[in-house]
Amino acid sequence: MPIALPDLPYAPDALEPHMSRATLLVHHGKHHKGYVDKTNELIASTALEKKSLEDIVHETAGDPSRVELFNSAAQAWNHGFFWTCMKPGGSKGPVGELAEKAVDAYGSLEGFKKAFAGAAVAHFGSGWAWVVIKNGKLSIKSTPNAETPIASGERPLLTCDLWEHAYYLDYQYRRLKFVDAFLNSLVNWEFVAERLAAAEVEAKAARSAA
Ligand code: FE
Repeated sequence: MPIALPDLPYAPDALEPHMSRATLLVHHGKHHKGYVDKTNELIASTALEKKSLEDIVHETAGDPSRVELFNSAAQAWNHGFFWTCMKPGGSKGPVGELAEKAVDAYGSLEGFKKAFAGAAVAHFGSGWAWVVIKNGKLSIKSTPNAETPIASGERPLLTCDLWEHAYYLDYQYRRLKFVDAFLNSLVNWEFVAERLAAAEVEAKAARSAA
């Protein structure tokens, strides 16, 4: 089976006014689809043809001879994850253990959101802002272009697309305005908290198996 373009988990106009229907139609239907199509074209009739998207990212990361496939596959994965990080109207958060960890690491929930927005705005050029967890430690980071934390064993809990195609139609050059709307009116914090809980269960299982 080729890699499939996942459906958006909401209607294309469901995130308005924070993310317009026009942005979502182009972002999902052209950009995300383009990365999926390119990935399928490059894995056709190769050993990677039947692999999952995540496996393709792992197997091509850091390989200079497969940069084009890595970029397409990583972008396909990052976009699929990005859609699931949002829901119509967003939600109040961070919540649960995520809130505790955010306060531990950044002093307050506001401090945590400020650190995320700061990393997103400071990021030069195209890329992604992330909340990741590795060895129980929460951190905020950004990656350039298609780079993805899943290639380095970190577990992403949240991402925001910083490519201009993500916000230019709605916010023009105002990346901070977009990121603020993302954090306060689009993020599905229950989903982020579930990702953290799943990561902790997995880490516990790995520890008791060791
Ligand atoms: Fe994008």
